Amino acid sequence: MKAMQAYVPGEQPVDIDTYIKLNTNECPYPPSPKVLDVINSRNNTDLKLYPTPVMSKLCSEMAALYKLKPGQVSAAGGSDEALAYIFMAFFEAGDKVYFPDITYGFYKVYADLFSLNYTEIPLDKDLKINVQDYLNLDGNIFIANPNAPTGIALIPCEIEQILKGNPDRLVVIDEAYVDFSEGKTVIPLIEKYDNLIVVQTFSKSRSLAGMRIGFSFGREELMAGIEKVKFSFNPYNIDRISESVAIEAIRDTAYMRESVEKIKATRSRVSKKLKELGFILTGSETNFLFARHEKISGFDFYARLKSDKILIRHLKGKRTDDYNRITIGTDAEMDKFLEKVEGYLAGV
Ligand SMILES: *Cc1c(COP(=O)(O)O)cnc(C)c1O
Repeated sequence: MKAMQAYVPGEQPVDIDTYIKLNTNECPYPPSPKVLDVINSRNNTDLKLYPTPVMSKLCSEMAALYKLKPGQVSAAGGSDEALAYIFMAFFEAGDKVYFPDITYGFYKVYADLFSLNYTEIPLDKDLKINVQDYLNLDGNIFIANPNAPTGIALIPCEIEQILKGNPDRLVVIDEAYVDFSEGKTVIPLIEKYDNLIVVQTFSKSRSLAGMRIGFSFGREELMAGIEKVKFSFNPYNIDRISESVAIEAIRDTAYMRESVEKIKATRSRVSKKLKELGFILTGSETNFLFARHEKISGFDFYARLKSDKILIRHLKGKRTDDYNRITIGTDAEMDKFLEKVEGYLAGV
């Protein structure tokens, strides 16, 4: 077997229904009722047929949402698969890639899997990306924006600086949480910068983590490169049910905006309360918080909540050990969480 470090997903205990689950950044609200209608009213006899490998209907819907051409979009089974296609399409063993030292764990996992030479650029002391560290690099760049697990976002003109500063490198912007942020997606910049690929997912803001739907966006030559890999690896990567669900989810973008507004309101309420309780938080523009407390170790806080049947995510590592990543749940779930946290703090 190849020597490699596999991605470690958040826990999914078998008795998961007995937990309040705030550890993998899923949306606490169900998918749009219109999406559920599509699933429930489907005439599934078409499942005897393979899906259409060119997802032209889905890509056209997605392209229309962002005023792009269908050829500037490629669909994948979740954005993890979209990222894998990028690694396979554009990099060779030994190539250099750069990403922050604290970011989405899968970049390192894929870099290892595809034998790349990766460098982790340290975030600054406030856990922010310093744009100056990303200019004139001798390799390709991956940035989650907003970043995970810090939740901190760059603004589009900062991403533009990085694109301009690396005209001959690929800059991949992973927008898994962009719908929760104040900054806008950089998808419109693909018209202007031929070195940009944007990746998005329906797993977070669109409540479809269980369905596996993700996308890449970029100029047509880049997307053709991704499609070539897809056709050499898994041409039927999106099943027929997922395709119809994804199309309806796009059409009901209004529902996603409603969920996002609810989550943002809960986020600001819970942040305020945690700060009052002495927690130090990064300025999150996502559906999770990244928090530490001077009086409690990150692991103890996680373990204590787990014993109370609340799961949050503790990420081991020198710079992350003191912190926990807490997904924003429903108001009722977060009230339960805050109640336990207050009880815990009363005893330290
Ligand atoms: C959740 C997440 C993904 C993966 O999403 P899927 O579409 O479910 O594979 C990718 N990037 C980041 C930064 C994420 O947080």
